[in-house]
Amino acid sequence: MQQRPPHPCLRCGACCAALRVDFSMYEMQPHGGQVPEGFAEPLTDTLYRLRGTDYARPRCAALTGTVGEQVACGIYEWRPSPCREFAAASDACNRVRQRHGLPALRYAHSSPPTPEPVAHTPLPKHAG
Ligand code: SF4
Ligand code: SF4
Repeated sequence: MQQRPPHPCLRCGACCAALRVDFSMYEMQPHGGQVPEGFAEPLTDTLYRLRGTDYARPRCAALTGTVGEQVACGIYEWRPSPCREFAAASDACNRVRQRHGLPALRYAHSSPPTPEPVAHTPLPKHAG
């Protein structure tokens, strides 16, 4: 059986280096949530922001690797809701990919969605 190519997010990371990521304080560990302290800063009385996402050149403090090549989220299991809800191959995804010079994605199948590059580029042998 043909092996499914690695998920495109593993060689992207554009959304983690393009957008401010704000979420409820209750998602932070000290307030009963899961996001580890040190990866986000208080923004208002009720909101936190992922550290690094509001820099002039945004880059989340939890992102490792090189955008567009190979990346990983250092707090994947504990990432906040905006990260969980950001859909690969959505319009927003393709906008930030474009900002990083990456090709748009489309869904190859409807269920379950399998994003694949529109302009096919060779995939690395190991991406995660
Ligand atoms: S959701 Fe889109 S922009 Fe974010 S890492 Fe995945 S492919 Fe890249
Ligand atoms: S927490 Fe992880 S998924 Fe969310 S922006 Fe940072 S690196 Fe990306």
